[in-house]
Amino acid sequence: MRATLMYGAGDVRVETVPNPTIQEPTDAIVRIVAGCICGSDLWPYGSKPETSEGARMGHEFVGIVEELGSEVTGLSVGDFVIAPPFVASDGTCDFCKEGLQTSCRHGAHWGGHDDGGQGEFARVPQAAGTLVVVPAAFDENLIPSLLSLSDVMSTGYHAAKKAGIEPGQTVTVIGDGAVGLSAVLSAKLMGASRIILMGRHEARTELGREFGATDVVAERGEEGIAKVRALTNGDGTHAVLEAVGLKPAIEMAIGVVRDGGVISRVGAPQFSDVPLGFAEFMRNITLTGGVAPARAYIEELLPLVLDGTIEPGKVFDRTIGLDDVPAGYQAMADREALKVLVRP
Ligand SMILES: [Zn+2]
Repeated sequence: MRATLMYGAGDVRVETVPNPTIQEPTDAIVRIVAGCICGSDLWPYGSKPETSEGARMGHEFVGIVEELGSEVTGLSVGDFVIAPPFVASDGTCDFCKEGLQTSCRHGAHWGGHDDGGQGEFARVPQAAGTLVVVPAAFDENLIPSLLSLSDVMSTGYHAAKKAGIEPGQTVTVIGDGAVGLSAVLSAKLMGASRIILMGRHEARTELGREFGATDVVAERGEEGIAKVRALTNGDGTHAVLEAVGLKPAIEMAIGVVRDGGVISRVGAPQFSDVPLGFAEFMRNITLTGGVAPARAYIEELLPLVLDGTIEPGKVFDRTIGLDDVPAGYQAMADREALKVLVRP
């Protein structure tokens, strides 16, 4: 089969690799119908040291079950399934039962030496706990939105959930990438009365407004903080959903959060020191968030996609074939594309 490998920064290749086979009785083989390139794939795309052995890429996909190991329950060959991002999970350990499948005691990762989502097939470990079956006979046009549950929408939802947004509260979302926009949609779903989107790419912030943003702030840094405070009687917002992962973004989050409020971060942090000192201590700020256990949310969000309540798939603004994946990376790195959908 063909699959995407990254050899180093800016060096993405589509190559022929061995077809996956069942290795454990709990495995499934999935034929990938749609995968995508993630904003987080752009971190190694920008900085990975060159290697002689490429790493398999992609951690978001939907597809059709081709083959099942002898111990897999609850799935049938031919099922259309959504694979959660980052990790496979057994669904039975204590962490999985608590909805923290990303800490599964028998988890496994996508990509690297294992199959990724940017290819034709993938071996899925712990298939019974990992995959979510989409009920048969859905509209093909829903595939982008179903795929978004495989990461960005579930990640944006995680940000909103961890922030504990209550109806009527005010929310700032930092970042107008696919996760930030999904966080806007999630804040709206949870009943936020005012959603301020901080971002400066107009096509993206327009989609943000469609998803529920009531205000857009293009300014950054101190200027951006002043703008958000001016919109909220000088207080800042109850929740801040940070979907960037860079230190200036978390600094802005601290600047725009209301005293007693929550900063929930889902942007993979590219720094280690969070500036939460005495001044922030005096303001009773909560910092939460982390990698999204998307598996915990897919079943909750799936009906909303199937009945058209939400259309998170609108974040995909380009569809390509497998051969064009290297160009797709470049388009996202150049910010020509918001999020690229891959149809192998
Ligand atoms: Zn588990």
